[in-house]
Amino acid sequence: MPLYDFACCACGHEYEAILKIEEPHDQLECPQCGAKAPKKLATAFRTNTWSKFLDDMEKRVNPHKFK
Ligand SMILES: [Zn+2]
Repeated sequence: MPLYDFACCACGHEYEAILKIEEPHDQLECPQCGAKAPKKLATAFRTNTWSKFLDDMEKRVNPHKFK
């Protein structure tokens, strides 16, 4: 499943969501403020495994970000 990165237009929070190809993303809600219609980031498709790997790396580097 393709995983996409989005940026909230209201608060700027960046988050990931899994979308089917061509599925509209304007109904996605920001997990932080609930605003809809996020901006889709240009980040290329990543797998969940790769994303988890990156999260684990970031946890090691920035543990204070993941309380
Ligand atoms: Zn937001």
